[in-house]
Amino acid sequence: MSRTLETATNWAGNITFGAARWHRPRSLDDLRRLVAGSDRIRAVGSGHSFSAVADTRGDLVRLDGLPPAVELDPAASAVTVSAGLRYADVIAPLERAGHALANLASLPHISVAGSVATGTHGSGDTLGCLAASVRALQLIGPEGDLTELSRDTDPDVFPGAVVALGALGIVTRLTLDVEPSYEMAQRVHVAVPLDEVAADFDTVSGAAHSVSVFTDWGGASAEVWLKRRTDRPDPGWDGGRRAERPMNPVPGMPPEFSTQQLDEPGPWCERLPHFRPELTPGAGEELQSEYYLPRTAAPAAFAALRSLGPRLAPALHIAEVRTVRADDLWLSPARGRDSVTFHFTWVKDLDRVRPLIAAVEDVLLPLGARPHWGKLTALTPRELAALHEQLGAFAQLVRKYDPAGKFGNDFTDGLLGTG
Ligand SMILES: Cc1cc2nc3c(=O)[nH]c(=O)nc-3n(C[C@H](O)[C@H](O)[C@H](O)COP(=O)(O)OP(=O)(O)OC[C@H]3O[C@@H](n4cnc5c(N)ncnc54)[C@H](O)[C@@H]3O)c2cc1C
Repeated sequence: MSRTLETATNWAGNITFGAARWHRPRSLDDLRRLVAGSDRIRAVGSGHSFSAVADTRGDLVRLDGLPPAVELDPAASAVTVSAGLRYADVIAPLERAGHALANLASLPHISVAGSVATGTHGSGDTLGCLAASVRALQLIGPEGDLTELSRDTDPDVFPGAVVALGALGIVTRLTLDVEPSYEMAQRVHVAVPLDEVAADFDTVSGAAHSVSVFTDWGGASAEVWLKRRTDRPDPGWDGGRRAERPMNPVPGMPPEFSTQQLDEPGPWCERLPHFRPELTPGAGEELQSEYYLPRTAAPAAFAALRSLGPRLAPALHIAEVRTVRADDLWLSPARGRDSVTFHFTWVKDLDRVRPLIAAVEDVLLPLGARPHWGKLTALTPRELAALHEQLGAFAQLVRKYDPAGKFGNDFTDGLLGTG
C-alpha cells in the first residue's frame, strides 16, 4: 500500500483510495472516539485487495498504529491478536511459543483482519479459509461501542460477522484457533501433464497437506507444489518430474523470494506460504481475479479453461488451482461446499485483462463460481449478491449492528442494495 496519504493506493496501484480523511490512531479509545464522530468510516488492512472493497469517500482508518498484541492462551488452544497485525507479525511469535495456525495464504504480508474480512484462503483439502480459524472477535460499533462476538456464545450471528467486508464495524482484535507447532517439507513437481491433473484431481489435490497447481493454461503441463506435514504419511504421488533446484511460482521471478523447497523440513510458517515474509513478492505489477467452485466441478473447469488457454496465456503471469474445505460463514465463497479455486495473476493492463476476466466468468459461472471478494470481477454488485444465499441474512445483520450504514461503502452499498 502506498504510504503517501494524498495519493494512497492499494498494493497493486489499480485503486486510488477516495478517502476524504485518513487516520492512524494510537489507542483504542482514540479509535472509538473517531468512529463515534464520523458519518462514514471503514478500516483498511494492508491494502492488498484488487477490488474496491476497502475504499471509501469518508474516513479511512489504518489500525497498524494501535499497540500490537499477540496473546497466546495455550490451555484454550487460542491466540488473540490485534486486528492491524499482518500474519507475518503473528506467526513468528506463535512458532517460538510452540504453536501454529492451520493455514496461511500465499504470502504472510497481508493483515489478519483484512484477510478474514474477504474470505482469503490458502490450499488444502482438509483446510478451511483463514476466516474459518476465527473463534471470536471484537468490533467497534457506530457509537464507538465495543461488541464481543464468539463462535460459542453467539452461534446465530457469528457466522455472519467474520467474512463481513468491513460492513459491520471496525474489528479491533481476533481470537484464532491454534494447534501444536508442526513441521512441513515442500517439493515441486514440474512437467505434470494437465490431462493427468484434470482426470485425477482428487489424487493430485490429496497428494499433500496443502497442494497448489500452477499453469498458464496455454500449454499442456503444470507445476504441482506439495507442502506435506512430516508427521503424516506421504501419499506417494509422483507425477511429472521432481524439481532439482528451487523455483518461484511466477515464471521469471527469483527463487530466493519463495519459501524453502527440495523437501527440506522446516516450521509450518516457513513452508505454508509461497513467499517469505522478509521479502516483498513483487512490486504490484499485476492484477488478480479468482473463483471458488464446488470441487466436483474441477474436471469441467479444467476443460473450459484449457479451451480458453490460447487467449489467456499471453496476458497471464501465472494461474493457480487450490482447494478449500467447506465452512458455514455466510459470505464465505467456500460456504457450504468443499471448493476448488481458480486464481489468475494477470499482467497489469486492465483494458487487456477485463475482457479475459469476462471470458473466464462466462465459462466458470455456469459451474457455480463465486468470485473472491478482494479481487477483480466483471460482475455487478447485484450479480455478486445473487451468488450468496445468505446475503439477505447478512443485510439484516448489517441493519442490526449499523442501522445508519456508517461502515458501508460503494462496494457494500451496491451489494446490499442500500446505495
Ligand atoms: C500479492 C498478493 C497475493 C495474494 N494472495 C492471496 C492468497 O493466497 N489467497 C487469497 O485468498 N487471497 C490472496 N490475495 C488477496 C488478499 O488476501 C485479500 O485481498 C485480503 O483481503 C488482503 O488483506 P488486506 O489486509 O490487504 O485487506 P484490505 O484490502 O486492506 O481490506 C480488505 C477488506 O477488509 C476490511 N478490513 C480491513 N481491516 C479491517 C478491520 N480492522 N475491521 C473491519 N474491516 C477491516 C476492509 O474494509 C476491506 O473491506 C493476495 C493479494 C495479493 C496482492
